[in-house]
Amino acid sequence: MATLKVPTLGVTGGIGSGKSTVCRLFETLGAQVFYADEEAKRLMTKDRALRRAILDAFGPESYLPNGQLNRAYLAARVFHDAEALRRLNALVHPHVLKAFKQVRKQAAQAKVPLLILEAALLFESGADQLVDHVLVVDAPEAERIRRVVARDGIAPEDVRARMQHQLSPEMLRARADFILENTGSLEQLRQQVEALYRQLTRA
Ligand code: ATP
Repeated sequence: MATLKVPTLGVTGGIGSGKSTVCRLFETLGAQVFYADEEAKRLMTKDRALRRAILDAFGPESYLPNGQLNRAYLAARVFHDAEALRRLNALVHPHVLKAFKQVRKQAAQAKVPLLILEAALLFESGADQLVDHVLVVDAPEAERIRRVVARDGIAPEDVRARMQHQLSPEMLRARADFILENTGSLEQLRQQVEALYRQLTRA
C-alpha cells in the first residue's frame, strides 16, 4: 500500500507580520494548523527528556517549584546571549519537529486537506525541510510595529529588539515559495488566503 501523504505548508514571517491571523483564516477553510511555538512551550513543561536537558543546561531555576517553566528566568538568560539562545533552541527544536512528524502522519490518515506548520523560526529550526511549500507573510516594518504595540501594549523599542533576533524580511522572502503581502484590510487578507488555499488543495 502506498504511504498516505498530506499536503503541507510552512507559514512564517517576522513579528507582527500576521502569521497567526493567516493561520486562523486557513483553519476556517478546513486546514489543520500545528503551532510550533505553542508546541515548544507545551513540550518544555511536559516532555521529561527535554526537561532534563534544560535543567542540565540552564540550571534548577529553569522550573518553578510548581513544575511550570520559569519563563522569566529563561528569557533573561537568552535575551542578550545569542549563544545561550542557540543552545536552548537546539534542545527544543528536534522535539518539536518530531511532534510535527507524528501529527503529519495522523493528518494523512485523517485525509486532512492541508496541514500547516506555523513557526516564527521555520528556517532556523530546519522545519522548512518537513513541508512541501513555504509561505512568508510580510508587511512594512512600521505597520508590524504598530500592530504588535496595539496587540501586546509594549513599547515600539521592545518590538524592534525582538526583530533583531529574527531573519530579515529580505532573507525570508528570498526563501519563500509564496509571499503574502499583509498590507490591506483583514477582509483582503481573507481573500488572499482563500485563493492560496484553493491553489494548494486543488487535486
Ligand atoms: P507574532 O510574531 O508576534 O506571533 P504574528 O505574525 O502571528 O505575530 P498576528 O498576531 O497574526 O501576527 O498579527 C499581529 C496583530 O495585527 C494582531 O493583533 C492582528 O489581529 C493584527 N492584524 C494582522 N493583520 C492585520 C490586517 N491586515 N489588518 C489589521 N490588523 C491586522
